[in-house]
Amino acid sequence: MASSHTVLMRLVASAYSIAQKAGMIVRHVIAEGDLGIVEKTCATDLQTKADRLVQMSICSSLARKFPKLTIIGEEDLPSEEVDQELIEDGQWEEILKQPCPSQYSSIKEEDLVVWVDPLDGTKEYTEGLLDNVTVLIGIAYEGKAIAGIINQPYYNYQNNEKQKLREDRSEAKAGPDAVLGRTIWGVLGLGAFGFQLKEAPAGKHIVTTTRSHSNKLVTDCVTAMNPDDVLRVGGAGNKIIQLIEGKASAYVFASPGCKKWDTCAPEVILHAVGGKLTDIHGNALQYNKEVKHMNSAGVLAALRNYDYYASRVPESVKQALVP
Ligand code: AMP
Ligand code: MG
Ligand code: MG
Repeated sequence: MASSHTVLMRLVASAYSIAQKAGMIVRHVIAEGDLGIVEKTCATDLQTKADRLVQMSICSSLARKFPKLTIIGEEDLPSEEVDQELIEDGQWEEILKQPCPSQYSSIKEEDLVVWVDPLDGTKEYTEGLLDNVTVLIGIAYEGKAIAGIINQPYYNYQNNEKQKLREDRSEAKAGPDAVLGRTIWGVLGLGAFGFQLKEAPAGKHIVTTTRSHSNKLVTDCVTAMNPDDVLRVGGAGNKIIQLIEGKASAYVFASPGCKKWDTCAPEVILHAVGGKLTDIHGNALQYNKEVKHMNSAGVLAALRNYDYYASRVPESVKQALVP
C-alpha cells in the first residue's frame, strides 16, 4: 500500500530513529572501552570505531529504505556486508503527524542528497569531552539544506555526573534521573524541535569557535568580533546547539577544515528558528552532490545580529579564504 506521507517526511522520520540508534552505538563503544583510534590526515583528524560503526549503520539503514537517495558520509570505508544488528528500520511516528511544507511535497527520493557526519567532534570524543559529540544527518534538495537531524548522545552527561557526585555525598536527590542523550530535528518551513530555544545574553558578544583546529586566521577573526567571551569547544553540531540554547551569540571559524557533512544538518536547525549560517564572506553554502566537500571559506553563524559579526570579518581574513 502506498504511504500517504511525503518522501521528505518519511525520510526525516526514519533518520530520527536511525540517529537515535547511532547515539546508542556511540555510547556503547565508550562503554566497551576500545575506541580503535586511527589517524586520517594528521593527529587532530581522527577516526574511531564509533565513527566507522555509526556511518555503516546510518548509510545502510537509509539505503535499504530509500535506495534512490544520494548518501555522502564522512568516512572512507571498505564496502562490506553490514551486520544486521546495525540496521535500524523504525520511524519516529510524531514526525509523520506533522504536515510537509507544501514546497517540498512532490520531492522524489532521487532528488535528495543526504550528508552524514557519523560522529562530529571525534577529537573531543577521544579525550572524554563527551557532551561535545553529535551525530549529524543533513538533507539537501536543489543544493539547499532543507532538513536536519542532530543526535547528542551525551546530552545531560554532566548533569548525571553532578547527580552521581551528589549521591556519593549522600545529599538529597533533586528531581527524576536525567535521561542521557537527545535528538533535535528540523525542516525549513516547519520549524525545529527537541530543544528549548533560548536567547544569548543581550548586548554581549559571546563567540564560540574551534577547540582543536585553531590557527592565526581563526584567532584574528575571533578577536575582530570584539568578544566579551570566547568559548572553545569541539564539533560544528555542538556549536550550533550553543547558538540555539543561548550559550553563544556567534560561531566564527575562519579556516578551511569544516566539511559539508558538518554544516548541513546544523544549518537547517539554525535557519528553521530564524538564524543564519554562511561562509566567512556571507555566501550561502551549497549541498548538491557534485559540490566539493570542504567549506574552504570557513563558517560564520548567528541566531541574531548576524550582520554585526559579518561586518567585522577583517579584509585580510577574507582575502586569505577563497570559497
Ligand atoms: P571543530 O570546531 O574543530 O570541532 O571543527 C568542526 C568540524 O570540522 C569537525 O568535524 C572537525 O573535524 C572539522 N575540522 C575543522 N578543522 C579541521 C581540520 N583542520 N582538519 C580536519 N577536520 C577539521
Ligand atoms: Mg564533523
Ligand atoms: Mg565526523
